[in-house]
Amino acid sequence: MAAPETLSDIVTSFLDVVHDRLVDDRRGAVADYIPQLAEVDPELFGIALCGLNGRVYESGDTDVPFTIQSASKPFVYSLALDDRGLDAVHERVGAEPSGEAFNSVKLEAGTGRPPNPMVNAGAIVTTSLVDGASPERRFERILERLSAFAGRQLSVDEAVFASEQESGDRNRALAYLMRGAGSLTAPVGDTLDTYFRQCSILVTAHDIAVMGATLANGGVNPLTRRRVTSAETCQHVMTIMATCGMYDYAGEWLLRAGLPAKSGVAGGLVASSPGEFGLGLFSPRLDASGASVRAVVAAQRLANRFGLHVLHRPLSLSASEVTAANDELEAGLGAEQDAAAAQLLQDHADDLAVWRLRGYIDFDGAEQLLLDVDAWLQARPAERENPAVIVLDLTEVTQLQSVAVWMLAALATWCRERGMRVIASDPQGRSLGVAGLSQTPDFDGAVRDAAATAGSGTPAG
Ligand code: GLN
Repeated sequence: MAAPETLSDIVTSFLDVVHDRLVDDRRGAVADYIPQLAEVDPELFGIALCGLNGRVYESGDTDVPFTIQSASKPFVYSLALDDRGLDAVHERVGAEPSGEAFNSVKLEAGTGRPPNPMVNAGAIVTTSLVDGASPERRFERILERLSAFAGRQLSVDEAVFASEQESGDRNRALAYLMRGAGSLTAPVGDTLDTYFRQCSILVTAHDIAVMGATLANGGVNPLTRRRVTSAETCQHVMTIMATCGMYDYAGEWLLRAGLPAKSGVAGGLVASSPGEFGLGLFSPRLDASGASVRAVVAAQRLANRFGLHVLHRPLSLSASEVTAANDELEAGLGAEQDAAAAQLLQDHADDLAVWRLRGYIDFDGAEQLLLDVDAWLQARPAERENPAVIVLDLTEVTQLQSVAVWMLAALATWCRERGMRVIASDPQGRSLGVAGLSQTPDFDGAVRDAAATAGSGTPAG
């Protein structure tokens, strides 16, 4: 594990820790019911996290292509929703977790609808609901949609596609049953061809992290900044992922990880933390429910460590805001009592920087802080004799999400190890539980303290 070179590398280091602790976990077996999938190297393991500003943090085999398989289902569902609308789609496919395996043959009594769009039967129906004058056009639109989610042009693994065709009798049987029941109206052959092709699209852990981040970002791809779908569609998709994405493990998954997610039998797992980031994991050995063993454990560890459960929401929600306060203070825009602080900042501009954090600080807010501080450190004139001192004004922070507490603590440690200092001003005296971080209740005191450290200039007062 490499030592973090820049502040934002601490996110990568954390992914490295999760990766390294799990790399020897060899439980499970690679899927072999599609013969071509058994050819994979079972040791591969990659973890990628894409923030909403488009930065991707990666550990392990994040650039090795694998077929997306069932992790395609949420994204094709988004296309069916945009083409037909929620009601028309759900006339044909339910929205109930099935409690059964991904290839279950159970259809709803009376309507003949498959339980939800995440199991194979339901996904075959959603694929058939995508608009297109021909099967080719329909697949083209699916490939375009998934590529837009990933932020790059994706392609199909023809060998896996052929292997799915040859071994796909169970899916074919499901499709005929649904034709008989009326939930599938399109021709079986064409629809399965498109479905097998969509499952055979090649992605990397990096790609699916971006795809998950696009959902988490309300439909705007954070890499390309292009809108792929609406925020409303993303909400529907993430809802179905949260309740049905992990098949017969969906309930326990929601309990333990609490993130909308979708697994695929090639070993991919995509998860979204709404408003925060997307996760892309890849490791080919699967558990009994057909989800990657290491990916499930890794995602659960990340979610638990960071308090990311979707139902874990602070009591007083307000948007997070992170601003470099130097300019604001120097322009005299701050409160009257900030005048002294402004003067000190001006005197020590090269060594002293202040960031004001406001509202509910989660991964996104804390990440912005890391990137801002990185940028400030890089812009700092080289070979300063004085240590850099960073003041974090937490006065107006309503809540620090545990991921943010961890990131601020890591920032303080990183700075201390490099001879810099971090001072937090917080009238509430919230503990970040880290050595090397000085805490002062009032902002003025923090800036005076910082100025004393930063320079030869005499501290005021
Ligand atoms: N192509 C696979 C199938 O239809 C997808 C299943 C999965 O990833 N769970 O069987």
